[in-house]
Amino acid sequence: MNPKSINVKVKKILSVIWEDDSESKLQLKYMRDQCPCATCKGETVLLKTYRPPAKTIITPEMYQVKNIETVGGYAIQITWADGHNTGIYSWEYLLELIEGQSANNGEGKEQSYNDLL
Ligand SMILES: [Zn+2]
Repeated sequence: MNPKSINVKVKKILSVIWEDDSESKLQLKYMRDQCPCATCKGETVLLKTYRPPAKTIITPEMYQVKNIETVGGYAIQITWADGHNTGIYSWEYLLELIEGQSANNGEGKEQSYNDLL
């Protein structure tokens, strides 16, 4: 299933409208924390995972979206306000994040989003 439209709402939530008109919402902070790029996630080389040192500086810009582009019809590339733009979020990865996020939040989805606003 592919998204029909993707929007940022109130600067904190990414809203994805899928082909069947269902809507998924992702917290931008969660998306950035789960950035799939090698810099953020580390690279696995010869069965050893190299992880970058934990970031010690967290800025509000880290969690603000500057631009979103679709990539090859299978993913989006997000440019964050701090300039980081190497994370490619495939539709599959978005679904994984949506699942992971609702597992973190328990079942009260709408409520926990509203708590953020
Ligand atoms: Zn990254």
